Amino acid sequence: MQLLLDLHPDRYPLEGFRQRQLLEWVFVQGVGTFGAMTNLPAEVRADLAARYTLNPFREIETVRSADGSVKYLFTLLDGRQMEAVYMPYLDRKTICVSTMVGCPAKCAFCATGAMGFGRNLTPGEIVGQVLAVAGGEGLAPRELRNLVFMGMGEPLLNYEHTMQAARILLHPQALGMSKRRVTLSTVGLPKGIRRLAAEDDLGIKLAISLHAPDEATRQRIIPTGHRNSIAEIMAAAREYQAVTGRRVTFEYSMLRGVNDHLWQAEELAELLRGLVSHVNLIPMNPWDGSGFESSTEEEIQAFYDVLAGRGVDVSVRRSRGKDAGAACGQLALKRPGAAPAPA
Ligand code: SF4
Repeated sequence: MQLLLDLHPDRYPLEGFRQRQLLEWVFVQGVGTFGAMTNLPAEVRADLAARYTLNPFREIETVRSADGSVKYLFTLLDGRQMEAVYMPYLDRKTICVSTMVGCPAKCAFCATGAMGFGRNLTPGEIVGQVLAVAGGEGLAPRELRNLVFMGMGEPLLNYEHTMQAARILLHPQALGMSKRRVTLSTVGLPKGIRRLAAEDDLGIKLAISLHAPDEATRQRIIPTGHRNSIAEIMAAAREYQAVTGRRVTFEYSMLRGVNDHLWQAEELAELLRGLVSHVNLIPMNPWDGSGFESSTEEEIQAFYDVLAGRGVDVSVRRSRGKDAGAACGQLALKRPGAAPAPA
């Protein structure tokens, strides 16, 4: 049986106003069964139910953080598991979605990387996270207006499915999100960044997890750094900006004694010269067995001061959901027996 959410909204299996009704039920009302679509004739609903499934998840569990963030643990129809995080702020509601079960990138400081790779998510399994989180929080799906592809997985390694999901998120008859509020975060894959720049109908934002300005440090913490040099990544970022005209965000997880030296702040500022960019300094979120610790507030401030003093647009991101294991780099299915099955 096919997952309806995997389809592009223009290819939903009804026509004319019936198709609009179906899209409205799924993406505006957020109903989870065909039976609840009361303005569709009974035989149409029965036919849809015989051919399609609406819900990509077998089970959904939540862990609520004291700061209001909620980690959603999804069990997919094949029994594999992955997570999304809901982060309510005063002025916006943000969701961080996964694009894979586990992740092959294996960044040394990331709990998801330590899990290994399970499989790619389908477009419907990605979009389904938004619908499920909205339902879980008592919101209409369109109330979730900010989305980051920053959960489990490297989105540019699940390129087609992530792009299809983005098209569904932005489609005016589906979730109708603004492209300015959708961000794709990558570990830095030059080929994928160039491909993304060429998706001119999309226009979503790009964030690059750089985490170090020098090759030796970067290769130590990001294994893909052995294949993609910082020079190649920066060249791709500059090309992306030249093609799209958009600012590029750089994520920088602050690891004590590893990438937080002031000479590294100087080198980072040098790397960013001439690029319209923003740097997010992220205190490292600890997890059992990571082998790293976060830089202290003072160390982060000193790093920040060097960057700001060199004219870099920089901020410190306060992580949400730490106590729920839902912060950046912590997503790793904290439940017994919850590791992903091998690919
Ligand atoms: S930081 Fe992102 S790319 Fe790196 S292992 Fe974790 S999920 Fe994968």
